[in-house]
This record gives sequence, C-alpha cells and structure tokens, in this order.
Amino acid sequence: MQIKENLQHVKKSLPEDVTLVAVSKTKSNEEILEAYDAGQRIFGENRVQEMAEKRQGLPKDIEWHMIGHLQRNKVKYMAEFVALVHGVDSFRLLKEINKQAEKHNRTIPCLLQMHIAEEETKYGLDEKELNEITTSSEFKSLKNIKIEGLMGMATFTDNMDQIRKEFRYLKSVFDKTKTQLPEISILSMGMSGDYHIAVEEGSNMVRIGSSIFGARNYS
Ligand SMILES: *Cc1c(COP(=O)(O)O)cnc(C)c1O
Repeated sequence: MQIKENLQHVKKSLPEDVTLVAVSKTKSNEEILEAYDAGQRIFGENRVQEMAEKRQGLPKDIEWHMIGHLQRNKVKYMAEFVALVHGVDSFRLLKEINKQAEKHNRTIPCLLQMHIAEEETKYGLDEKELNEITTSSEFKSLKNIKIEGLMGMATFTDNMDQIRKEFRYLKSVFDKTKTQLPEISILSMGMSGDYHIAVEEGSNMVRIGSSIFGARNYS
C-alpha cells in the first residue's frame, strides 16, 4: 500500500496552518490505520452509520468529521462523538444537531455549507439563507452547537478559472460572515483535484480522499 507515502506527499504540499481531513469513505479500517500510523488523526466520512461502525474498531483519539450530506434522522447516531459536522445546509438540521448534542450534554462544532457550484445537485445555502440563520434570534438560543466556519464544494470541472472563482467567492462570504460571527475560523474547501487552488484562495481545511487512499471502489 502507498497510503503512508501519499499522505506524506499531500502533507508536504500543504502550508502548516492548513488542516488536513483524510477522507476515508469506503476504505477499510486497515487502510485507515495505515494513515493513522503515519500520524494522521482527523478522518472524514460521508455516511453516519459507516463512520460509527469504523469508529468501534479504531483508536479512540481519532477525530471524526462528518463531511457529507446529512439527514436529520441520522444525527442521533453520531451526536456522542462527532468532532466537526461540515455539511450543515439548513436551519432544521442545525436545530436537530443542537437537540441531539444537548442529550449528550455537549456542544457540537459545525460548519455551514454554502452552495458555490454551478451544479444544482450540490447542496448548500445561498447568502440570503445564511443571513437568515445567523441573524435569527432562535439561532442565538442554540446552546449546544457552535458555528466554527463555512464549507463549500466547487463545480466538478476541468475549468480551473471557474473553480478559482467559486473558491474566491466562498472566501468573500467567509470574510463577510466573520464580521457578524467574529468567532468563526474554519474555511473548509478543497478536495484531491482542486485543493491547491483552494489553499491559494484562502482555505485552511482541506478534505482529501483519493490522493491519499487511491480511487474508491463502490461495491
Ligand atoms: C469524497 C469527498 C471528498 C474527497 O474527495 P477526493 O476527490 O477523493 O479527495 C471531499 N469532500 C466531500 C464532501 C466528499 O464527499
């Protein structure tokens, strides 16, 4: 396996202040352990049950990030342990996360997902929806979630100018949001194919799967 070498290569290409989330969806615990043994502690999954099952058999100091689209009825399966939820794309979902976090007597860190791509299929909020959430009085009453920043996914395209434009837009929304929520600090953008551009445009958290673990097999 090449995982250790791939991980080291990716890490070397990242500035020190950029956090690497190793995206391990569809990968086995053995593969995850190879990255763990090479020093990686933050892993990202896009299915709640898969994440919860893998966690059972892996070291307890792993930080698990939920990076995918999240259904409200799944939040309860990860509320006890999830370290960061990247894909919060509705107020209803945020309220459910708050409710489940309260049951476990903890605060769950969250990122609000913005829709920056051209594809309609991608999830996320527009600026109006973002503002509606962050300025509502109900939002201020949610004591068991903490908004740590924003997340977004660029269009799947070879057009690097377009990808750059989308990341630049997300960075501008992040800067604007910071004037309302000064405590936010995380801008999660960039995957295997576009993370170099994302980092140039101000990302400080990248979510990288195939460049570390190789191509995914969906069986
Ligand atoms: C799968 C996934 C990634 C990683 O994709 P790669 O192209 O394999 O690096 C990043 N972010 C999200 C939300 C994903 O679902």
